[in-house]
Amino acid sequence: MTSIRFPSPMRVVVRDWSNANHVLFLGRETTLVDTGYGDCFADTLARLHDPEVLGERRLDRIVNTHGHSDHIGGNAALKRLYGSRISVPEGEAAHFAAWDTRALWLDYADQKAERFVHDDVLRPGEVVEMGGMDWQALAAPGHDMDALVFYCPEERLLISGDALWANGFGVVLPSEGQQRLAATRATLEMIARLDVRATIPGHGAPMADTGGALERAFARVEAFEADPGRMARNCVRVMLMYALMHRRRLKLADLPAYVQRIDVHREYNEAHFRLPPERYAEMLVGDLEKAGAARRENGWLVPA
Ligand SMILES: [Zn+2]
Repeated sequence: MTSIRFPSPMRVVVRDWSNANHVLFLGRETTLVDTGYGDCFADTLARLHDPEVLGERRLDRIVNTHGHSDHIGGNAALKRLYGSRISVPEGEAAHFAAWDTRALWLDYADQKAERFVHDDVLRPGEVVEMGGMDWQALAAPGHDMDALVFYCPEERLLISGDALWANGFGVVLPSEGQQRLAATRATLEMIARLDVRATIPGHGAPMADTGGALERAFARVEAFEADPGRMARNCVRVMLMYALMHRRRLKLADLPAYVQRIDVHREYNEAHFRLPPERYAEMLVGDLEKAGAARRENGWLVPA
């Protein structure tokens, strides 16, 4: 793996699939991009307290790439602790203000996050100063229609959130006319026009080969364009896997009732699969097993 050098005021904390990566900037002001999942806050804080990261300093500002539970989960607790100012993408502001748990994929997808109050908004096209560097906030709709990515032309660095990973991007919901998928493609095209030496994705290690990541992401878009059924199936499988990671286990006997209760599953089953809940649940479990993501154990579904 190529080692990537970051400017000295910048700290990249790589997390996991339940928690988005953190990018911390130590400047005149300290700024943290994305705050992890709420249930994992103790771990998030331990990582921030590392003397090589934030240490004893105060966290002045939080910036979110978008409004999902694994990116905003630490917002409320960090604000309580440090009085941090919270800046959110302009398009998400109404969702946060109303705490729209459907738009934020919270109870809608069996995810949790503590409610917080944001202080200001970031508009697409705006330049945000972080760690003494100028970062352009660029609209990156698709996975989240209101997401932003942050690009520093001087350093040729990109913070891509869930818009671009090493192998794809965050789950894209099938939608009427596939606007979300079209937006995903347009966002990748926008990123392809940037001069980038390294990308820090929302999940996974920072990558020097942004071109390779884009190629894989475009291939995924094409596969979804060719087969909307596959896209819907991928979407519900990913949603169940995220819930499973946070719940740690799900009782197999309860799954038919679960998929009836959680909106994303009930609605996508009605729209795309039209299966009795038992068979729909069985399909999801089978898909997760086949992907090597989960397994059955004494009547429970557990992450593999
Ligand atoms: Zn996301």
